[in-house]
Amino acid sequence: MDLIVQKFGGTSLSDEQSRRHVLRHIIREREAGNGLVVVVSAMGRSGEPYATDSLLNLVLRNGNALPARERDLLLSCGELISASVLCSLLNAEGIPSVALTGGQAGIMTDDRFGSARIADIKTERVHKHLSEGLVVVVTGFQGMTSEGEITTLGRGGSDTSATALGAALSAKVVDIYTDVDGILTADPRWVSNARPLPAVSYEEICNMAQNGAKVIHPRAVEIAMKAGIPVRVRSTFSDGEGTLVTNAEALRKQGIWFDKTVTGLAHVHQVTQIGVINNNGPADVQLRVFRAMASHGISVDFINVMPSGVHYTVSDHDTPNAIGLLEGLGFKPQIRRACAKVAVIGGGMNGEPGVMAVIVEALTNSGIPILQSADSNTTIWVLISEEDLAKALQALHTAFGLHLA
Ligand code: ASP
Ligand code: MG
Repeated sequence: MDLIVQKFGGTSLSDEQSRRHVLRHIIREREAGNGLVVVVSAMGRSGEPYATDSLLNLVLRNGNALPARERDLLLSCGELISASVLCSLLNAEGIPSVALTGGQAGIMTDDRFGSARIADIKTERVHKHLSEGLVVVVTGFQGMTSEGEITTLGRGGSDTSATALGAALSAKVVDIYTDVDGILTADPRWVSNARPLPAVSYEEICNMAQNGAKVIHPRAVEIAMKAGIPVRVRSTFSDGEGTLVTNAEALRKQGIWFDKTVTGLAHVHQVTQIGVINNNGPADVQLRVFRAMASHGISVDFINVMPSGVHYTVSDHDTPNAIGLLEGLGFKPQIRRACAKVAVIGGGMNGEPGVMAVIVEALTNSGIPILQSADSNTTIWVLISEEDLAKALQALHTAFGLHLA
């Protein structure tokens, strides 16, 4: 018997109607003869009663009075509610099931409350229930320490629960069900003709997730990649196959990966470019700048270090703080707020000439200045002004033919 791990996110479980769709996917896979482990997130989004953010809001006005351990107890409740409700629905349909907490499902973590790491998964109990013919419903986003304390894995951690269980159980596939039809070539709110991709490699989706695409948690992908377990990102509300995520080799063998130079675009906005120019100043400018940022917990990105000074970005939110620190050190930083970092991603761009030329041409023809750029084997990043973002994404999307199937 093959084993499939299915993960349903908050919007897939938010009301009676969406939960009917969830049931449909469970029944289909079960009737096809698969063993099923179903990982659930808390129901709904912020504002809905049992969503993770709503639980957090219950204690928000008490400031930081709730210790991390107890905060995790509170946060774990959302997933418990989802698992119990799903279990009742399954049993009502005559599908025998059992609901387990992360700890009961054997997910053992360290004791970093709020951002625990999975140390081990003890699969005996899940295997036992599977052999009894039960659908095993597991609360996502949580685990247990060796002392029996409940921990959570960090926001968006249910994806990680799903792929970690998939890896530990050698699942045939981990299906991440969400409210979009798969992984898109770009964010459809910015690019009207963005379309779902049939397949991407682990590296590509990691790059997309790390560059602001909210598709699947990067940690979840890393775990699947290490274990070589294929993942599908698909919609709860349709019967589409979604996007297959696996290694490039497997995709090539299945004939569904064509070494496309560019696969998709991702972006983050609301970032500030900071320049600190050093004309005959002290030799340790770079060191002083980055030490100041680090010691105040300001995360820096897009770093260019040159003899003449440094350029880097921070989130707009951190800008006043960063300026204060730099001025305190006697620097006169050049500040450009409201920038956007666009990532052009593709596993096939390595060693392929001309990608940067296409980017520069597309942006230049649209009258969009490039403020900074950087590249890796699979990604080229450009920093632009946020007001140019929509135009830039659309121009790049068209220039790389991403709208074409
Ligand atoms: N419910 C948790 C969160 O909102 C975990 C998840 O949804 O993956 O972060
Ligand atoms: Mg999520």
